[in-house]
Amino acid sequence: MKDIFLLDMDDTLLDFPRAERANFLGTLGRLGVNADSDVYARFHAINDALWKAHERGEITRSRLTVKRFELLFGEYGIEASAEEAAEAYYEHFGEICYPFDGAREFLAELSQRGRSFIVTNGGARLQRAHIDLAGFGPYLCGLFISEEIGFHKPMPEFAAYVEGHIDRYVRERAVWIGDSRTSDMVCARSVGIDFLLFDPTAVTPSRPAAEQYAAFLRTIDSD
Ligand SMILES: [Mg+2]
Repeated sequence: MKDIFLLDMDDTLLDFPRAERANFLGTLGRLGVNADSDVYARFHAINDALWKAHERGEITRSRLTVKRFELLFGEYGIEASAEEAAEAYYEHFGEICYPFDGAREFLAELSQRGRSFIVTNGGARLQRAHIDLAGFGPYLCGLFISEEIGFHKPMPEFAAYVEGHIDRYVRERAVWIGDSRTSDMVCARSVGIDFLLFDPTAVTPSRPAAEQYAAFLRTIDSD
């Protein structure tokens, strides 16, 4: 029986690209920079590559937040301060959050079956703001945020920390759910926690996220 749920948040419970796009265009607009979808697409690619580098331990999270704007502004010859953009971007991101359809219901359902914990590499202030905005709080028993615990996914130390800080923890009763093969899956498997992959790219109007959540519940129930 599974009754300990370790849940990634961005791209697993929250539609991260949608929020990222809105926040990026809003931030640049406030800085007086005209950005279109192409510039956003480039930002998204740069951001993704930097987060992968972060997972490999090649760049810190705080350096990444500025560097993505340095690279973007460099490529497009945009005359704006990367530091200022990074700060404004982070500041406003806390106000933008789009849970996937069915995410809250999924958490409510899990809370009937056991205890849920968030496992995330995001910034602490931002993740807490998003949890509040999304209304996830009442369904969660705890948060493991890399910035606060000093290790990040996929470091085995992150998983070990999580396992060491949940009361009455039994590995066989735990399941980790996330969208990333390089961070969530590697991290869960580093200590032998069962893992379920959420695929945000498969979410469409005709195939809502709720279908994947329902499949997870069936898997959890049959275990
Ligand atoms: Mg994720």
